[in-house]
Amino acid sequence: MIRENLRQTEQRIREACERSGRDPGEVTLIAVSKTHPVAMLEEAYEAGARHFGENKVQEMTEKMPRLPGDIKWHMIGHLQRNKVKYIVGRTELIHSVDSLRLAEEISREALKEGIAADILVEVNVAEEESKFGVSVREAPALVEAMSKLPGIRVKGLMTIAPFTEDPEENRPYFRKLKQLSVDIATKNIDNVSMNVLSMGMTGDYVTAVEEGATYVRVGTGIFGERDYTAAGRSTEE
Ligand SMILES: *Cc1c(COP(=O)(O)O)cnc(C)c1O
Repeated sequence: MIRENLRQTEQRIREACERSGRDPGEVTLIAVSKTHPVAMLEEAYEAGARHFGENKVQEMTEKMPRLPGDIKWHMIGHLQRNKVKYIVGRTELIHSVDSLRLAEEISREALKEGIAADILVEVNVAEEESKFGVSVREAPALVEAMSKLPGIRVKGLMTIAPFTEDPEENRPYFRKLKQLSVDIATKNIDNVSMNVLSMGMTGDYVTAVEEGATYVRVGTGIFGERDYTAAGRSTEE
């Protein structure tokens, strides 16, 4: 089932690229594996998935050594500063950086490791109370402040759009994030590139691709429904 789901998701991404005149090579599918057991990640790996997304540090670091070393791990969940040290140097990209203090901590750990950490700034485009992320208005100054930190490269922006039955409702938010990234890019800030846009989940990734997503984060559409009551789920937070 995972294999078919993956194929179908990839196919829909390709079609969305064709419709919007984009090169499918610009879009990377992240299989969001949070709450799912290692066996399911192995199945996705066998079917060709190489990018996995997790939202909890403990769950991610437990899974990492049990899976092949060529997997690229993406931290997509809210990150606490005291947990940064466990993932810097081990992740492809940290999608959910929404404060200077968090960026400073990532910078410190990256310097210790002698690496540069790639990050995205999370923007709460729809200004939902319940969501993390900075506002569209605050984002440019925050990016500029982060650009001065050693050991960090700001690669772009990320958003979590509202939950909705109709993905068209999220199109304006995706468009707004894209526009924001263009606006920031024109400032030519040292150390900042705005080539990455992480947006779109199971319910709305097709729309997000049409609007310029370079990463889509799909969980349910690949692995099926998550069972948060299951034994073995992460107890963190
Ligand atoms: C869980 C999660 C996803 C995937 O959600 P689905 O609707 O299952 O595709 C994507 N992004 C983030 C930040 C998540 O926490």
